Amino acid sequence: MLGLMQDRPLALPHVFHRAEQYFGHKTIVTAEAGGETSTTIAEWAVRVRRLATALDTLGVNADGRVGTFCWNTGRHLELYMAAPCTGRVLHTLNIRLFPEQLVYIANHAEDEVVFVDRSLLPLLWPLVDKLDTVRAYIVIDDGADVAVPDDPRVHDYEELLAAASPFEGQFVVEDENTAAAMCYTSGTTGNPKGVVYSHRSAVLHSLITLTADAFSLAERDVVLPVVPMFHANAWGLPYGCLLAGADLVLPGPNMTPQAIVGLLEKHNVTVTGGVPTIWMGMLPLADGRDLSALRLILCGGSAVPRSLSESYRTTIGIPITQAWGMTETSPIATMSTARSQHAALTEDQRADVRARQGQPVPFVDIRLVDPESGESQPWDDAATGEIQAAGPWIAKEYYRGEGGGAQFTEDGWLRTGDVGTGDRYGFVRLVDRTKDLIKSGGEWIGSVELENEIMAHPKVAEAAVIAIPSEKWVERPLACVVVKPGETLTGEEVIEFLTPRVAKWWLPDAVEFIDEVPKTSVGKFSKKTLREKFGGYQVAGPERT
Ligand code: ADP
Repeated sequence: MLGLMQDRPLALPHVFHRAEQYFGHKTIVTAEAGGETSTTIAEWAVRVRRLATALDTLGVNADGRVGTFCWNTGRHLELYMAAPCTGRVLHTLNIRLFPEQLVYIANHAEDEVVFVDRSLLPLLWPLVDKLDTVRAYIVIDDGADVAVPDDPRVHDYEELLAAASPFEGQFVVEDENTAAAMCYTSGTTGNPKGVVYSHRSAVLHSLITLTADAFSLAERDVVLPVVPMFHANAWGLPYGCLLAGADLVLPGPNMTPQAIVGLLEKHNVTVTGGVPTIWMGMLPLADGRDLSALRLILCGGSAVPRSLSESYRTTIGIPITQAWGMTETSPIATMSTARSQHAALTEDQRADVRARQGQPVPFVDIRLVDPESGESQPWDDAATGEIQAAGPWIAKEYYRGEGGGAQFTEDGWLRTGDVGTGDRYGFVRLVDRTKDLIKSGGEWIGSVELENEIMAHPKVAEAAVIAIPSEKWVERPLACVVVKPGETLTGEEVIEFLTPRVAKWWLPDAVEFIDEVPKTSVGKFSKKTLREKFGGYQVAGPERT
């Protein structure tokens, strides 16, 4: 027997029309070189309608890829809506990628047009002759003092909008499974891989950001996404805010800690989100600022050091809330919000819970799979396994099926490449990425876990742990440590600090002090670079582990 309910597509036009109809009075603030601009959702919606017509004028195909090369701005948000609502596919190009990766991605996705912030032209323009499918570049003037090339392919965004009449009526996307947007993973191994979001996945993911144990986005929130709209959809915050009717504050090109803390304070921001580096940078500036409106500081993308979260709790009164996910998971997969089972814990124990990646959000299924036996591990916090994920906003394959067959299991789960444990409530604790695990004498050592312990040292700014060869144990850990400015630290002190915190056989065999941890194009620890640098190391390792 079939259910007798209406079969309406879960598609982004609903998000647009809802925002336009009910939240026209709400605001989108963008900070740019010339100062802040504030638009109402009503004004923004008219611009989205103009842009929809302009995409036709530009001759973008019915499902053509619309590239964006933009900061977090209200105009980028116009593209976030106009492209998918007209059946096109929004393709956010990550401005931090290396030039050759960008060229590969734009060609692979077959971008037809690219909208580019004027301040980012110097990064994009040198590549245009290698972009085979792009017919037009639309420059969005963000006030940057950058020359705009005199080239027939170049258009001005505002002129284009002014010349276009607003699209009339309702946007319609009939098949919720059609593509709405795409993002490429940064491709630490091999070429970048395209993740293609559908309308359905984008809508369901947005809905989850409104649920109470996730971001609980509400109409009364003022949200500042520091996480870029060009990477993993700014964690779903833009669409989530439009669906909820929350006000948005968008930081534009100035992502300095000074600028962010200023915006948080000035606009009484209630929810913000960014990677650990952002919150590390802002911490020294937070003291004495009025951040009393903040209720949620989201953090993910890399492990959130326990000490960082605790510093926020003691400085401004709220700790950091950790989320875990990846481009392939839209990205929200787990959230570490407090639950009733944590109520009786001490503050110190609660900090341990917050250092976990958290519980899967509704509709995301997680299993921990033993890499050797292929068996699912019990949720008892003891067994470690590869984290595999399934759910309606999790990729089932990459664009054109390329490059990643190995990342999906035969029964349709995503192999995340992350390794972790989980407690009986499903609170995941990530210990490593499969390729970074250190196998010492047949036993795994979690490099991420060791790093977190080292970073808890008050004199340590950053630490990365890699495997180095050992004749006896095959691999042993080497700690690469960055000391905070003005501090001094010895290798012995690091080991002494770690001794009560980790198993004896996990203690690094050597400690190297470095000026900074090398980063990938998207700001994650580049252990590959460190392995290359310290590849010649040989250690005997301990007598017994
Ligand atoms: P890319 O895939 O382009 O490198 P992603 O943002 O998709 O970039 O990276 C996803 C990866 O980032 C995850 O697989 C995981 O290793 C890491 N990550 C994300 N969130 C967390 C977190 N809270 N703690 C630890 N690692 C995280």
